[in-house]
Amino acid sequence: MTNPVHDVIIVGGSYAGLSAALQLGRARRDVLIIDEGKRRNRFASHSHGFLTQDGVDPAVIAAEARAQVMEYKTVDWLAGRAETAERTDEGFAVTLAGKRHLSRRLLLATGVRDILPEIAGLEERWGKAVFHCPYCHGYELNQGQIGVIAGSDLSMHHALMLPDWGPTTFLINDAFEPDAEQLQSLAARGVRVETSPIREITGHADIRLADGRILSFAGLFSLARFEMASPLAQQLGLQFEEGPVGSVIKTDPMKETSMPGVFACGDAARPMASVALAVGDGNLAGAGLHRSLMFGSI
Ligand SMILES: Cc1cc2nc3c(=O)[nH]c(=O)nc-3n(C[C@H](O)[C@H](O)[C@H](O)COP(=O)(O)OP(=O)(O)OC[C@H]3O[C@@H](n4cnc5c(N)ncnc54)[C@H](O)[C@@H]3O)c2cc1C
Repeated sequence: MTNPVHDVIIVGGSYAGLSAALQLGRARRDVLIIDEGKRRNRFASHSHGFLTQDGVDPAVIAAEARAQVMEYKTVDWLAGRAETAERTDEGFAVTLAGKRHLSRRLLLATGVRDILPEIAGLEERWGKAVFHCPYCHGYELNQGQIGVIAGSDLSMHHALMLPDWGPTTFLINDAFEPDAEQLQSLAARGVRVETSPIREITGHADIRLADGRILSFAGLFSLARFEMASPLAQQLGLQFEEGPVGSVIKTDPMKETSMPGVFACGDAARPMASVALAVGDGNLAGAGLHRSLMFGSI
């Protein structure tokens, strides 16, 4: 039996991919979603800032979204990691566990992977006591003491923002040397600067410094760099856009990439990340894909 050719294969069945699938399912298009279930926010037990779902477990939001999308009979789900993606004469082929799946259009909603600073005790506290997004997790710290761990001078932005959520200490950790102007703007925002390097994070969010002192915080923030969670965009030779902490797939306003017929949405294709933005992006990509299926030349 020959493989069916789906209208769209969506790699990544989290907020962005499911939002696109919802649009396509509602247009009665044949969609295959491939997902390996490693959402970026899987380390956090609460998600904030997405209207109607504020404070809900991010796994619950994703599961509800999936259940609603799978009500559409033309949408199918395959669990697992898509290994390769390539262009064919008729469209695209994606392999999973050695099997080829074919489609006329391809959507990458594969997200990104955070590259955490190598500080003992940080990784196991990621999403629990160490965060990157103040809007997502700042409010719940109840105006307690906040530590910002510098990764480079880009962390200045973080340090200057966080006083709105609580008294802030900027832990330079040998990442850069603030100049006089930077020190002045930190002082203007009431930020305390700590120059003794970090040895480890212990307890809830206690920082043991090289000079032996221990500073206790309600929460810590660190601006992690990120990379693509999947090499599919590189395999296809898509163009990227350089951002301050990582590159994202370049798209046009309807989320089509540099390769006609391949779309990208969510964290993989936008520098600002949130569940709400991923859902909005997926909604755009779904409409863009539908338009491309109706009026495109391939
Ligand atoms: C610790 C933490 C806490 C956060 N908290 C919040 C918050 O409170 N509020 C908020 O709005 N945002 C929060 N975010 C940001 C939020 O997680 C992302 O913006 C959001 O998950 C992006 O959705 P997405 O669908 O683009 O990608 P993701 O949710 O990361 O999903 C990508 C999906 O693609 C799958 N995938 C990737 N490659 C493949 C492949 N080759 N084959 C098959 N499947 C693949 C992954 O397994 C995953 O299921 C947080 C992020 C982190 C790191």
